[in-house]
Amino acid sequence: MKVGVLALQGAVAEHIRSISLAGAEGVPIKRREQLQDVDGLIIPGGESTTIGKLMRKYGFMDAITQFSTQGKPIFGTCAGLIVLAERIQGDEEAHLKLMDITVARNAFGRQRESFETDLDVKGIDEKVRAVFIRAPLILEVGAGVEVLSTYKDEIVTARQRHLLAASYHPELTDDYRLHQYFVEMVRSQSAAAQK
Ligand code: GLN
Repeated sequence: MKVGVLALQGAVAEHIRSISLAGAEGVPIKRREQLQDVDGLIIPGGESTTIGKLMRKYGFMDAITQFSTQGKPIFGTCAGLIVLAERIQGDEEAHLKLMDITVARNAFGRQRESFETDLDVKGIDEKVRAVFIRAPLILEVGAGVEVLSTYKDEIVTARQRHLLAASYHPELTDDYRLHQYFVEMVRSQSAAAQK
């Protein structure tokens, strides 16, 4: 089982480490052709405007949209969540527009720019350690989107079929269970596709 990590910007090596702890092989994706060799894709945190620009420059917009159309799972963390969203609060143009959510960037304000907490996540037994860094929030979700966790009543983890999104950085802790959850999504999708 191979899971790609979009390697244009952000914490790529950390995601690859968490993927291997979760029992799959992590592959840094630098060219769009490489998407053909992986069964799932993680879009890491960083700066969503920069990631969006680089994705457009290197032809990833169509390639990732096609990847998603094939039902292959995609996991966006922090800036990666913003890149997946159909709508960004304010005037900003959205990027991939794959997930039926509205997001607010840098939603925790200056006082709480960066913090750690333990979250209850639906489908994972014990609380998950989450690192928030200038994190976005999910303001609204469409009918097909399941909310997996909230922090102070705000949505911070959600899933829409093969798409998973988290406001925080699961790759910056030793807790790899969210990666395990995603690897499980990838495993069941590719098992279904081979039938
Ligand atoms: N603040 C960044 C953005 O809006 C996201 C931060 C992150 O990925 N840690 O793109």
